[in-house]
Order: sequence, then structure tokens, then C-alpha cells
Amino acid sequence: MVDPRQYPIIGTMQYGKTLPLRDHEVVLTFDDGPLPKYSYKILDILAAHCAKATFFLVGRQANANPEGVRKIRDAGHTIATHTQNHPGTMNRLPVDQAQKEIEDGIASVTAALGDGTAPAPFFRIPGLGRSDVIEDYAEAKGLQIWSADFPADDWRNVSSARVYDLAIQRLEAKGKGILLLHDIQARTVAALPRILSELKARGYRIVHVVPATPDRPATPTDPSQWQTHPVSEQVATSRWPKIPNFAYTATAALPAPELTDSDWQNTAPADRAQRRALRDGLWSQQVTLVLNPPALPVPASNVFKLPESIRVTMLYSPPSAPKVERIAHAAHEVSAKQAPARAGTSRRPIRAAAVRKPASAKHAARPAKDAKHAKHAGKGAKHAQAKPGKKNAIRVAEKKR
Ligand SMILES: [Zn+2]
Repeated sequence: MVDPRQYPIIGTMQYGKTLPLRDHEVVLTFDDGPLPKYSYKILDILAAHCAKATFFLVGRQANANPEGVRKIRDAGHTIATHTQNHPGTMNRLPVDQAQKEIEDGIASVTAALGDGTAPAPFFRIPGLGRSDVIEDYAEAKGLQIWSADFPADDWRNVSSARVYDLAIQRLEAKGKGILLLHDIQARTVAALPRILSELKARGYRIVHVVPATPDRPATPTDPSQWQTHPVSEQVATSRWPKIPNFAYTATAALPAPELTDSDWQNTAPADRAQRRALRDGLWSQQVTLVLNPPALPVPASNVFKLPESIRVTMLYSPPSAPKVERIAHAAHEVSAKQAPARAGTSRRPIRAAAVRKPASAKHAARPAKDAKHAKHAGKGAKHAQAKPGKKNAIRVAEKKR
């Protein structure tokens, strides 16, 4: 049960809202009838499958086949309207003509029903040719405009197998929705039994939509159920702002800056004086700050205390006494060798000593070889504790050198 005034425009083919169907629920709609030749067969097929649909009838067709209108009603389907003459370009009609199409269509179907009842306030625009004027008028009249969620192209010159394929494929893609069909097409009559059988086999349920009345109130729903994309904390896109439609007043290109406007393009070689002038101009001068005896506060010792909850695990075991002795000896030797170099005025001898060191260590006696261990003492000991194989790898690498 649907209250048209609550949600006056539905159908995701054109709008952001649609019927609040659950997954695997389908609403069948048939346009353009009644045409006894095919409409009656459609009624038989629906009856055989215990399925109820909504028929958007054309006023002129209703005038020609009032009995067909009553047959559809008596079979329990929902009778809705689709204008009087099915204009091909409804959105281009003058406002008063468009309104007359809607009004006459309702009047013709009402007359065909012949029992004083009116069709449901559901209206489908021919060719889905919407316009703001039509929508505003329909809404003001309390009509609900039905677009659809997917068609099966049964008004085109395609085979009934194609109609069946499209209906199932498009439904499967959405999982639910309003299917748009036509009860005036032979291919629709041919495709419908297979469509209905397949829907049943795949676990779909057909939902019959009727307008709410005072003694038949609307089915309670949540506004989010009518949204194409339910607003959800998990779906970020639902919270993104809409992209605005920018209207560009001018399409001319903006002027690009000249290359010469950029200083870096000036690559002409500068002489020493020019370079110094450039450097002194670009870089701020070095300033020597003369500080009086610093009187900054000394941080309290408890600032450096680790919180009790933090445990520090040191992967370290103290080396044996002989090894400590060897390391100390080797360290002493290395510092003795490098001492003269450091005393020199040039940087060259220091580098040379540093480069030569491994070679001399290779040929030196064992204590010299351990000098390298002194260098890696901390690291080596740590890894030796965790992975004994690592130490061997280090030794192999030394031998290769
Ligand atoms: Zn139509």
C-alpha cells in the first residue's frame, strides 16, 4: 500500500527514489493497453502464475475497449493511467495540452470502469518524457509519477528471447525493482511465461502495489528505503556533495607566463663577482649571536625516567673475559695507528689510512683482525645472541675480503 503524496516521483531509470522493495522483490508494470488481442493473454499468463501487476492504460484504448479495462480490474490488478493519446513528445507539449492529456486519460479510464470508481493515482508519462511542468502538475493533483527501474526493450523490434534475457539480466543486476513491459506486444506475450517461471526459480517474489486509502493505510516504511542509495555511515559516497553544474562564461584560454618571467631560466654564465653578488643577495647574512652565560632552566631528573609499565628488553649478553681483553687491545692498536694521521694538516692521510686499514688488518696478527670485531662489537654480540648463524656469515664475509 503506497501513499502517492508521500513519494510523488519514483523509478531509478530517471529519479533518485523508487519503491521500497526488499531484495528479490519485483513489481510488474504493463503499459499502453488495453488491447484485447494481447492484453487478455497477458491476463491469462499472470493468472496462471498467481501474479498481480499494474497496468498503465491509455485513455483512447480504454474508450475503444472498455471491457478490457474491466477485465483487468476484475482480475485484481491495479489500474493506472498513461495519458489520453500517448503523445510521443509529452515534454514538448504546451502546458495546457499536457495537462489535458493527463486529465482526459483519467476520465476515459474512469468511464470505462463504469462503477464510479477511479483508477489508482499512479501515472506514467508516455516515453518517460518527463518535464518539470508535468511533474509539478501531477504532484499537485496527488498523482504519483512512475518511471521504472529497468525495461526489457519489448517495444523495440527484438525477439521474445531477447526480451526475456534483458528482463532477467537487468533484474539480476539490480536485485529488485519495477519492470517495465507492454501488454500490446506479441513478443511480450511470448516472453512473459518464461520470465515468470524464471523469477520463481530464482526465488523472486512479485509485489502488487495498490494505493493507500483511509481504510487501507500505507505500508509503514522508512524514508531511507525509498532512496536509491540508502544513507549509511558505511557508504561514504552518500555523504559527498553533488558536483555543481558550472556555467562557463568564457572558453578562451588564459595567457601563459613567458619563460623569461622565470629567473631560473637565466643560465648565462656568471663570473666570480656576479656569483658572489647573487649569493649575498639571495641568502641572509650569517649573524653571530652573543649569548650571555646561559641561564636556561635545567630539566628535572624525573623527566628522563621511563614509566614503570614499559619494559625494555636488551638482547645482549656480556662477552667473555678473554674477548673483552682482545677487543680492548685491538681498539688500542687502531687508535694508535690513526693518531698520527689525525695530527696532519691535510685530510688526505686520514682517508688513506681509513682505506688501507682492512688490507693491513688482513695481514696482521690475530689481535689486529679482532679490531674489526671491536668495531662491530655491540652489533655482533647482539646478533650472535639472537641468531648464531649470523656471526658465521660475518666471518665468511671477512674471509672473502
Ligand atoms: Zn507507453
